[in-house]
Amino acid sequence: MTLTESNYYSSESNMEFMSVSQYKQFKKCEAAAMAQIRGEWEQPKSTALLVGSYVDAWFEGTLGKFRLENPQIFKKDGSLKADFQQASEIVDRVQADYLFMEYMSGKKQVIRTAELFGCRWKIKIDSRLRDKIVDLKVMRSMERIMGKSFVEYWGYDLQMAIYAAVEEKAKGRKKPLSTYLAVVTKQVPSDLEIIEIPKWRRDELLHEVECSMPHILAVKSGAIEPERCGVCEYCRETKKLKEPIDFELVGLSTAERKAIFGTL
Ligand SMILES: [Zn+2]
Repeated sequence: MTLTESNYYSSESNMEFMSVSQYKQFKKCEAAAMAQIRGEWEQPKSTALLVGSYVDAWFEGTLGKFRLENPQIFKKDGSLKADFQQASEIVDRVQADYLFMEYMSGKKQVIRTAELFGCRWKIKIDSRLRDKIVDLKVMRSMERIMGKSFVEYWGYDLQMAIYAAVEEKAKGRKKPLSTYLAVVTKQVPSDLEIIEIPKWRRDELLHEVECSMPHILAVKSGAIEPERCGVCEYCRETKKLKEPIDFELVGLSTAERKAIFGTL
């Protein structure tokens, strides 16, 4: 199938293509990933996500459409709710920064597909310049999370690794483009940064993805039963109690149980 703006997130396209978010979902919970691909379950859309989408839409020049499609962002009197008032202030803040705007001045929402590690991948680039790929991130803060940089914790470096590899292959380049995150925070006042994800880090992560893909593709094709992580929103929603569990197992995901107690 040919991917367009309107079918990019469809169930059909998720079945045919692997994406970074699908990959991350498989690593987090295979059962939830499969339910999402089959269109049986959807990750609830949080206000935090919508604030990011608001800023995305502004950069893309589609804010009018976004406002029409998301009437819940307005109060009854027609003014923006506090969260989106803030999104609008974030837009003002980044507009005042020359470097940020330069990195975000590329072609918007560029869709590319390419074969990688045994399957076809789809990517959507926020801002593609002649020599670089830039992804916009609206974050709560840039603080470290559980001892890790937020970039690593949320897998934004992995996202850039896949984006650069797919773009390089799709365009038949001799070498991949440089990759950057354009980050702005929802703090008052906002913090902002342009962060480079270097090629050595991308290569490291591509190797990890390559190692994980055979198992993920086997699950996706139905050859292996998807494993329930036991702790995510999907697992909670579809949970059926079978028997009491040992007190030492409380609060652990399936992967953690395996790591601590061996195969269960
Ligand atoms: Zn789960």
